[in-house]
This record gives sequence, C-alpha cells and structure tokens, in this order.
Amino acid sequence: RRVPEDLATLFSNTEPLKLKGYLKWDVFCEAVQKIVSNPLLPADGKGVLVALRPAPGLRVEQALTLCRPHRMGDIATIADKRLMIFLSFCRVNDLDIALNHIFPLPTGDIFSNRVIWFEDKQIAAELVNMQDVKPERWTKPLPVTTQPGKIINATHDGRHWRRYPEPHRLSADTGEQSS
Ligand code: C2E
Ligand code: C2E
Repeated sequence: RRVPEDLATLFSNTEPLKLKGYLKWDVFCEAVQKIVSNPLLPADGKGVLVALRPAPGLRVEQALTLCRPHRMGDIATIADKRLMIFLSFCRVNDLDIALNHIFPLPTGDIFSNRVIWFEDKQIAAELVNMQDVKPERWTKPLPVTTQPGKIINATHDGRHWRRYPEPHRLSADTGEQSS
C-alpha cells in the first residue's frame, strides 16, 4: 500500500485547524490559505498572522525552539530571518496574551520587530509575498533534542511570567551531614 509522501500537506488540505506547531514554509502557507479562504469562518476574524524578527544575536531557528503553541490551530514557520505565527481565532487585542502563552520569555526580549496582519485581505496579500520566498531561503529548524519533562522554573498566570527562586546553600562544607 502506498503512503502519501507528505502527510503534513495532506492534513493541511483537509484539516488545517487540527495542526499545531512548526510547519514547513509551504505547508504553513497552504494551511493559512485554507483558513482565510474558508467562507464558513467569520470574516476578518479568522486569526492573527504575526511576523517576528529575532533580536540581534539570536537566530530564527533558535527563536523557534522557544515557540511552543498549545492550542490547536496555532502554527509557525521560519524563513528569511523571520518567524511567522498564525494564531487561529485569536483576536488582535488578545495577541499579547496569546504570545505570552506560547513563549516562555517576554517576546520583547526575544524579538526586535513585529508585524501583524488580521483582516482577511491583509493576510491574503501577505501570503502572496510569503509564497514568493524561494525554498533556498526557508530555514531548517534545529534538530529536536528530546528533553522529556524539562521543567521551566516559572509559572504563567495568563498575563505574566513569574520565576521561582531556587534555594542554594552558601556553605561549601562537603563534610557536613544533612539532617
Ligand atoms: P486547545 O484549544 O487545543 O488548547 C490546548 C491547551 O492550550 C489548553 O488545554 C490550555 O492549556 C492552552 N490554551 C489554549 N487556549 C488558551 C486560552 O485562551 N487561554 C489559556 N489560559 N490557555 C489556553 P486545556 O485547558 O486542558 O483545554 C483542552 C481543550 O479543551 C482545548 O484544546 C479546547 O479544545 C477545549 N477548551 C478548554 N477550555 C475551552 C474554552 O474556554 N473554550 C473553548 N472553545 N474550548 C476550550
Ligand atoms: P478566548 O478564546 O475567547 O478565550 C477567553 C478566555 O477563556 C481565556 O482568557 C481563558 O480564560 C479561557 N479559555 C479559552 N480557551 C481555553 C482553553 O483551551 N483552556 C483554558 N484553560 N482556558 C481557556 P485568556 O487566557 O486571557 O485569553 C484571552 C484571549 O486570548 C482568548 O480569547 C484568545 O483570543 C487569545 N488567546 C489566549 N491564548 C491563546 C492561544 O494559546 N492561542 C490563540 N490562538 N489565542 C489565544
């Protein structure tokens, strides 16, 4: 039996809202295209497309490792020194809340520039620009290093990140016995 070569493409054609996380540039464009051209979804309320340029010294594939969407329909891609995110159904006024859910650090610390598109026409126009980006300029994500159960020493209350202080003993006396 033959297995489709690009399952991701197949899925993006049928169920783009069931995708989540990183997609290859062309698959991402196709998925967003499907969403914005779906007449069953609310006009100018399909979501927000965001372009983020990493701060100097940070490569876009490194920034991608910090991008961890939780909600189905929240997808991302990288090319041309830009990280593109599409947040399905997110309202433009809620963009910062959503980005705070997705990144473990304030986005102002990771990115130096951001551009957003949220009306159907704007998103469609930007998609045309995105589709012009040649595959040579698509950026490969860093290899996934599986770190099961990696703990971030912070919690997010929906608006802000709060780090926990870690107790450290100042005494270097190794002979001491703990009680
Ligand atoms: P989902 O939409 O795919 O979201 C997966 C997880 O992302 C959620 O798990 C939650 O941890 C986080 N998340 C997504 N959107 C938001 C948000 O607007 N605010 C916050 N604070 N966190 C968010 P969770 O909570 O266990 O929900 C599991 C699934 O249950 C969700 O999957 C969604 O399908 C459904 N769900 C839960 N609460 C709601 C809700 O208030 N409205 C809707 N429409 N669906 C909900
Ligand atoms: P919304 O989707 O209308 O959700 C309103 C509130 O319902 C959320 O406020 C959250 O308290 C709750 N809620 C919705 N979905 C979930 C869920 O899956 N799990 C849980 N635990 N709670 C949920 P919140 O968190 O302040 O978010 C406000 C708005 O920000 C959301 O409105 C949405 O437009 C946007 N947003 C927040 N997080 C995400 C996200 O991860 N992805 C996207 N696409 N949008 C988000």
